[in-house]
Amino acid sequence: METTTEIKTRVYRFGNKKADGKSAMKNLLGGKGANLAEMSRIGIPVPPGFTITTEVCTEYNELGRKKVISLIKSEVEKAVQEIEETMGAKFGDDDDPLLLSVRSGARVSMPGMMDTVLNLGLNDDAVEGIVKKTGNERFAWDSYRRFIQMYGGVVMGMKPESKEDEDPFEEIIDNLKEKRHIKLDTDFTIQDLQDLVYDFKDVVKKKTGKNFPTDPWDQLWGAVMAVFDSWNGKRAQYYRKIHSYPADWGTAVNVQAMVFGNMGLDSGTGVCFTRDAGTGENVFNGEYLINAQGEDVVAGVRTPQQITRLGSERWAKLAQISEEDRKTDYPSLEELMPEIYQELDGYQKTLEDHYRDMQDMEFTIQQGKLWILQTRNGKRTGAAMVKITMDLLEEGVIDEKEALLRIDPAKLDELLHPVFDPNALLDAEIIAQGLPASPGAATGQIVFFAEEAKKYKNTILVRTETSPEDLEGMDLARGILTARGGMTSHAAVVARGMGKCCISGAGALKINYKKRTLTVDGKEFHDGDWISLNGSTGNIIEGKVATRQPELSGEFGELMDLSDKYTRMKVRTNADTPKDALVARNFGAQGIGLTRTEHMFFEVDRIKAMREMILATTVKGRKHALRELLPMQRSDFEGIFEAMQGLPVTIRLLDPPLHEFVPHQLATQKELAEDLHISLDAVKSKVAALEEFNPMLGHRGCRLGNTYPEITEMQTRAIIEAALNVKEKGIDVHPEIMVPLVGTVNEFVEQEKVIRETAEAIFARRKTKINYSVGTMIEIPRAALMADKIAEHADFFSFGTNDLTQMTYGYSRDDASKFLPIYLEKGILKEDPFEVMDQEGVGQLVLMGTERGRKSKPHLKVGICGEHGGEPSSVEFCHRAGMNYVSCSPFRVPIARVAAAQAAIMEEK
Ligand code: PEP
Ligand code: MG
Repeated sequence: METTTEIKTRVYRFGNKKADGKSAMKNLLGGKGANLAEMSRIGIPVPPGFTITTEVCTEYNELGRKKVISLIKSEVEKAVQEIEETMGAKFGDDDDPLLLSVRSGARVSMPGMMDTVLNLGLNDDAVEGIVKKTGNERFAWDSYRRFIQMYGGVVMGMKPESKEDEDPFEEIIDNLKEKRHIKLDTDFTIQDLQDLVYDFKDVVKKKTGKNFPTDPWDQLWGAVMAVFDSWNGKRAQYYRKIHSYPADWGTAVNVQAMVFGNMGLDSGTGVCFTRDAGTGENVFNGEYLINAQGEDVVAGVRTPQQITRLGSERWAKLAQISEEDRKTDYPSLEELMPEIYQELDGYQKTLEDHYRDMQDMEFTIQQGKLWILQTRNGKRTGAAMVKITMDLLEEGVIDEKEALLRIDPAKLDELLHPVFDPNALLDAEIIAQGLPASPGAATGQIVFFAEEAKKYKNTILVRTETSPEDLEGMDLARGILTARGGMTSHAAVVARGMGKCCISGAGALKINYKKRTLTVDGKEFHDGDWISLNGSTGNIIEGKVATRQPELSGEFGELMDLSDKYTRMKVRTNADTPKDALVARNFGAQGIGLTRTEHMFFEVDRIKAMREMILATTVKGRKHALRELLPMQRSDFEGIFEAMQGLPVTIRLLDPPLHEFVPHQLATQKELAEDLHISLDAVKSKVAALEEFNPMLGHRGCRLGNTYPEITEMQTRAIIEAALNVKEKGIDVHPEIMVPLVGTVNEFVEQEKVIRETAEAIFARRKTKINYSVGTMIEIPRAALMADKIAEHADFFSFGTNDLTQMTYGYSRDDASKFLPIYLEKGILKEDPFEVMDQEGVGQLVLMGTERGRKSKPHLKVGICGEHGGEPSSVEFCHRAGMNYVSCSPFRVPIARVAAAQAAIMEEK
């Protein structure tokens, strides 16, 4: 037998306007690596380098360090040689050393998740070479001490474990500052920096027992392997978990020639966006720092300057800085380095045109030469996502279908969140102003540590600056406020990605972590005090501020219209009150898919009659109480029919177990006994009699209507009479009466008989008619199995996937929270099946039920009204299942509309 040896490329080179890879190779090269290759191909000046593929990360996890190094050694050596040729310097050379950066890069961007090592290749000899090469001794030694610090932390495991632990390097720095009576890093002399280098190496030896590696190749292999290790680090795991990214994706490693932004006043570094990531406005924007390295901009330690003049002027206004001070102290790059700015502006246009989407770019200026370090599709808020997409559509860059497919439906949620009530804002006391880093409204109690973000129900995380360790707390908090950092600081970027309100760089805040206080203008706020953030204006407000529901308008409205153009399925809503029905109609609901009638019985004026009905021991007694409930139900339904103005309305008959309605506390039991003129013992014994071992599987759903048909009769009467009354006002009505929890054909047939007889009697009495239909929920597995038989009688099906999930898995909806989080953490389940439809299991019953139902009745109307009706991947499934509509809570209607359109477009493809 012939054997073939597969020669697999594990290292892809780029630079000098050519590349082995391209942007389509994201899965193999990671997002960053693929983009570096692509940029190089289209003539953007990226520092030359190479990418070690994500597959090697997987190989590393399987085979270990030694084996993996032997697999890639010769490819890496060749690639380094090529960088040396392009840069005219040599890796490991004493006189003219080439320095490298080593960065991670997964297929999707995970900001701040993975570790980076810069200035790799420095040692006691190379540092002298850099001194000679640049003539800048201070820069050379500062780079060296930064390298040891970074490498020691990232590769040699010297990063502090917790917030309480001191960073050994920072400790040395602080001690030296104290000894020398200086405050800033920039106050160190060259001798100080040299001392730091030696002290750093000592502490490495002391803490790890190993010498700091002097051989550049040892340094390189150490860093590459550390990037692979960081893929399984805590931060990366958490980020993967919240975004549901699988562990087997792995990360690529990007090794690149170092370029320096900290080589003097003709050098600098920055981050820029081709459009505004917060609002979506089509303006080039970004921030830079002169004489700084990349991490200085994102770390939020120095407040950066704006790239464009327009941005700079806007920023100065917010920061209350005069035009004169702005020009001298914080000039824009456009003003300070006009030629470099022009070049950068050219590249940003090229890159956005090329990728046909908003780009987030990093650049460095080294002694007057501009290098683009990376570009990627920029993270953006929900509002910016909508605006940018609709603008690109209008500009003719993308077509309608692509525009719809670019929307992340779940992200629309941000636009549907409350905004501050403008009236409440009139009285608001603004205590300070920061940068509007991520829009929205947030009100909550102050916490100063990410670990305490759960301390109160609504928290605002207040920090001098945030770091990747704070991620979980940022996710839990309502809003984030930082005293330092710009629009591209860690806090700002992460908050925008999360769609979380954030204000950064509020310089007037003084934060004291020890005392847990925040001081502004002499006023002190403490842990637990309420503050409010307006992430759209940067206003920080004292106390709680009332919020208001948002509206669909502008680009959002256009997006919704566009969705409807491509959707096949209709989107209805689950609404129990006229108010909810109106909210949903404003969001574009095309009917009501579920009105849970029981919710109406909990209101104060009705619960009494309801309890009387439940406690009645005779049919006569029950009917008496039902007569009291009838007018209330009828007027509820009239309100809903009027609100829906002729759109179909599905009303479900009483569903929950009766014990939910009776009082369990002694005081209320006493009250009830008095009201009904019966003894307390009688109430108590009835309550006890209603107690069930498994209420979810007990006397509920159509089992109630079948044992007490007078309830069905009353509810039907209320629905039909309400419909007739509304019709008399000239409003069209389409009631659909729905029987819950059907498991056998006869359960449905019996209920249908009661409904139809009641309706016919009313029509005869009032000598008028309306069209109505009688259908059923499919929420018990047996109903899905018997769907062909049930469909012989039912006019429509609505899948109740909440109960269907409960009964298919055998997980109690009320108790699953005890074990589901652990199942998710352990990976036993990938997703919560009550949130995301389990397509493999529960979904099969949905498919089967639909198919069998339509076998008997080809035009059977089929919908879904479980929670899954508003979850994008489940909506897509419902489309594929051939449903006529999905029904979801009012605030998810826009999400479902886009998801339904995407499903239709994807099917076409
Ligand atoms: C369902 O079970 O999916 C459903 C919509 O009904 P409920 O949640 O009221 O049980
Ligand atoms: Mg149900």
